[in-house]
Amino acid sequence: MPESLKDPVCGMAVDPRHAAAKGEYATGTVYFCSTGCKTAYDRQHPSSR
Ligand SMILES: [Zn+2]
Repeated sequence: MPESLKDPVCGMAVDPRHAAAKGEYATGTVYFCSTGCKTAYDRQHPSSR
């Protein structure tokens, strides 16, 4: 099991307890190091709704 998750935008390891932002996507919950990374990810991965 992973001890930390990777921010898919910048590749930084993110601790879910201290993630600056997170989002729900078709693939599951994704954690981000910053809200800016989440915004960038949202542009490429629109939510399923
Ligand atoms: Zn990031």
